[in-house]
Amino acid sequence: MLEKKMEVALNQQVNAELWSSYLYLSMSYNMENTGYDGMASWFALQAKEEFEHATKIMKFIGVMDGKVTLFPIKEVKQEWNDPKDAFEDTLKHEKIVTEKIHNLMDLAIELKNYAAQNMLKWFIDEQVEEEDTVHKILEQLKRIDNNAACLYALDKELGARVLTSGK
Ligand code: MG
Repeated sequence: MLEKKMEVALNQQVNAELWSSYLYLSMSYNMENTGYDGMASWFALQAKEEFEHATKIMKFIGVMDGKVTLFPIKEVKQEWNDPKDAFEDTLKHEKIVTEKIHNLMDLAIELKNYAAQNMLKWFIDEQVEEEDTVHKILEQLKRIDNNAACLYALDKELGARVLTSGK
């Protein structure tokens, strides 16, 4: 059983996850256009993960006999000055997503929806990981400070990322 209030909130989160996917796709092509193929690949995987997050919530809505509603996806930014700029935006965005997930958990607790709480627990853990990963990359980028050789090495390193979601 899915309460109307929870259903609406989860559908909004589906939209937020799809928007995230769209944002990272945009970053991916921006990185590719500026010669960072490794980072382009990293952001492309990130986009796939966000799509999986949306799918996870949609499946939950379905299992709980709710109705999935797909809202329009708002436009995303298309240009970033450099990789540091893109990763700064990524960290800012992930912090907003974390807040959204926490608000959803607050609602699930208020409604005593234990199934939703369980499902959201996975997302809470996922956000801790996301913020940690992006924070570390950003720290490296700050240390590198646009040194071409170091940027080249980091691009190669990030390009080696493989899809680890779907846990
Ligand atoms: Mg997500």
